[in-house]
Amino acid sequence: MTDMFNALVVEKDDAGKTSASVQEIGLDRLPEGDVTVAVEYSTVNYKDGLCIGPGGGLVRNYPHVPGIDFAGTVEASEDDRYKPGDKVVLTGWRVGENRWGGYAQKARVKADMLVPLPEGLSTRQAMAVGTAGFTAMLAVMALEDHGIGDGPVLVTGAAGGVGSVATAILANLGYKVAGVTGRPESADYLTSLGATQIVPREDINETTKRPLETENWGGCVDAVGGEMLARVLGQIQYGCSVAAVGLAGGATLPATVVPFLLRGVNLLGIDSVMQPYDNRLRAWTRIAKDLPMDKLDSMVRPATLSDLPQLGADILKGQVQGRVVVDVNA
Ligand code: NDP
Repeated sequence: MTDMFNALVVEKDDAGKTSASVQEIGLDRLPEGDVTVAVEYSTVNYKDGLCIGPGGGLVRNYPHVPGIDFAGTVEASEDDRYKPGDKVVLTGWRVGENRWGGYAQKARVKADMLVPLPEGLSTRQAMAVGTAGFTAMLAVMALEDHGIGDGPVLVTGAAGGVGSVATAILANLGYKVAGVTGRPESADYLTSLGATQIVPREDINETTKRPLETENWGGCVDAVGGEMLARVLGQIQYGCSVAAVGLAGGATLPATVVPFLLRGVNLLGIDSVMQPYDNRLRAWTRIAKDLPMDKLDSMVRPATLSDLPQLGADILKGQVQGRVVVDVNA
């Protein structure tokens, strides 16, 4: 095991200004933990943008290594569950936020935070999926567990990271998928992922705003929240579910209780950060089985550690599309 490795290190100066640069650092700088991983790939998420920049309240201590997810190979382990050479994947647990994360060639974490990479999934594919895709799978599992109807399943924010993967998984499982997008130019992309219907964003937002509308959808994976989620609730089939994942369109929910009372609609909150081990393993195993890997490539853009300062700024401005996979050894 070599002692020195490259990492994207974010530092804060005395004036409180942060700066990010690729540095060579030693293994002794890694946090306490029972498993050391040779990281192969990580990804770029909105939270990473915050942590590469001023932190947005997520980073507790500087210097900091961001990267909220990673996949790689175990290099050393003090835990019986993992041995050198095992392939592993990590999402959540505030890694990359209040603990050093995946924007480095090495990471040290607690064994409880890891999941063995399922059969049939490479480390690169795992990070093409990443936190966004893992969350999409959790949302699909929640719909299946709590009620999904025979109508098309709506995916809001469909061209984004969560929405793209949710569309591909649902279509592969045989559901009709209606993708809601504010970008008409995304229609071909969404159709290639398996969407059977493209719904312009305004078609949902500009409905009558009555508490109940026609029961159009057999369920919904919602990455948008706000007004969009409020309108969708009134259009869900009786006894079916909405998996609420994000708030790209706002945190306020201007809805009534009527869809819950008169249609038995289930509103399911999805949190990818604190999922119990069994559920994480179940989701990653389902990803390997239910996500068509040929579709992943069309979502992915490659990057290196030195690209990250720019990508972090871009994602905060909403200028990154699809999934960015970071090869930390490139
Ligand atoms: P992206 O930025 O990749 O996608 C969000 C999509 O939402 C956009 O592509 C756009 O889709 C749509 N959108 C953006 N702004 C608006 C708006 N004002 N009104 C309507 N639609 C809008 O983000 P992700 O897919 O990675 O994440 C989506 C959300 O999920 C975020 O809020 C993120 O923080 C959250 N998240 C939550 C997790 C959890 O554990 N619960 C884990 C991961 C992410 P289009 O162009 O197609 O209209």
